[in-house]
Amino acid sequence: MLRKILSAAILLVAVCAFSQSGSPTHFNGKTWWDYVKVLADDNMEGRETGSAGLQRAEAYIVEQLKQAGIQPAGSDGYYQRIKFQSREIVEKESSLALVRDGKVEPLVLGEDAFFSTRVDLAPELQSPMVFVGYGLSIPEKNYDDLAGLDLNGKVAVILNGSPADIPGPLASHYQTAAERWKTLRAAGVVGVITVANPGSMDIPWSRMSVNRTHPSMSLADPEFNETEGEKLVLYFNPASAGKLFEGSGHTFEELVTIAKERKQLPRFPLSASIKVKAALEKKNLESANVVAKLPGNDPDLKNECVVLSAHIDHLGIGAPINGDSIYNGAMDNASGSALLLDVAASLKKSPEKLKRSILFLFVTGEEKGLLGSKYFAAHPTVDPKSMVADINVDMFLPIVPLKILTIYGLAESDLGDMARQIAESHGITVQADLEPQRNIFIRSDQYNFIRHGIPALAMGVGAAPGSPEQKILKDWLTQRYHAPSDDLNQPVDLAAAALYEEVVRGLMIDVAQSPQRPQWKQDSFFRRYAQSSN
Ligand SMILES: [Zn+2]
Repeated sequence: MLRKILSAAILLVAVCAFSQSGSPTHFNGKTWWDYVKVLADDNMEGRETGSAGLQRAEAYIVEQLKQAGIQPAGSDGYYQRIKFQSREIVEKESSLALVRDGKVEPLVLGEDAFFSTRVDLAPELQSPMVFVGYGLSIPEKNYDDLAGLDLNGKVAVILNGSPADIPGPLASHYQTAAERWKTLRAAGVVGVITVANPGSMDIPWSRMSVNRTHPSMSLADPEFNETEGEKLVLYFNPASAGKLFEGSGHTFEELVTIAKERKQLPRFPLSASIKVKAALEKKNLESANVVAKLPGNDPDLKNECVVLSAHIDHLGIGAPINGDSIYNGAMDNASGSALLLDVAASLKKSPEKLKRSILFLFVTGEEKGLLGSKYFAAHPTVDPKSMVADINVDMFLPIVPLKILTIYGLAESDLGDMARQIAESHGITVQADLEPQRNIFIRSDQYNFIRHGIPALAMGVGAAPGSPEQKILKDWLTQRYHAPSDDLNQPVDLAAAALYEEVVRGLMIDVAQSPQRPQWKQDSFFRRYAQSSN
């Protein structure tokens, strides 16, 4: 899953729990884990986009697809090759400081803040700062954090989050880097500083900061540049954020308290300017998506396909934690890629007469900003209109028994109803996203399909609020998410994995067999993309 740096308060919703689990018929969890063991092995070197390790993992996937009788559907056999540019910060030639009343106060890189190299940082910049609250403009709700502010030539300081009365998907959408930058740029902003919300960080600052010099990537084709004109992106340590607000008449603590209540934040100019020197090392590189197809049998519907997607890339080799520098990404997302292979193999073993075709899509560049899926959705190797749905599998976390399934996008399209029905037929309780503030609906590859009008969803093993299982899932995020310990030496619940696979397989088959394509709900925010792409 793509790391989101910040989030806000956790919204808890009551759910009904307790039901027996149905037993899976096509899966035993063991074959799935066997694939995970190969893909997350140390010799895959953490499957970094553009690396030899990822190439090896993809070659293995292609081999397995061939054995399962799934046909190539890329632009070059099973592959769709993509060009990237990587950017790495050279910290010893870079610096950060606050300038207050003509006095320079240096900031420590990594401790106070660090650069995001997702954007093409300007070599030098000095600019006044304005605190813009959540930094959100949501015309649908007449909500505008930027109203009345003079932002021309300024750096916007944001505390991530959103007010409680903005629906989750809408708030998530406007928090994407691209949407946010559109509005900020129009207001004259030249850069963004995001302050991590201490109440709701997925992983602690020290772990965020330790890999800050790891390269970022973007798609080389300029058509994908969504951050043009953005000269600075910084992440600021909440423990140091007091420095930003000194002399502003507000304290960081006060703002965090308001954000916790999810009310609109005050917006005001800050007393200091930010002074930046940023040196970047840039490289060109190539990586690939893997695309394969199982043709359907219906004379008409076989020309349509259900996309089953998972990202295969992870973070590669990085800063060592407890002596381990290989970020294996066993759950994130060898687990999802393995699921696709396992489902493909199950179809060979017990073939279903599918009406629509199934497209198996293993994307690269997810951890770099959903880049492989962005490229695929813009330049699919199949007819763009033929894709009826995307079921994305990313880090579904079968580490507790599958009694509750969290469905991201549950209320947005028919897919949610279909997934609910299948899950419930297996005795699984379904819940919507309990933590909309974590923005999971837009944090994995399904989002790029959504942007192109294609109904999509993702699902994860869930837990009831306050339950021991919820604590296990939460602890996993704190300790193993995007750490070298997301490896093969962690407890996994094979029965939960098998049952989850059963639900995905069932949903995929239902979509493939249904006379109608899945539709967005009338009141779904995301329906607009289907309308604009038709
Ligand atoms: Zn991830």
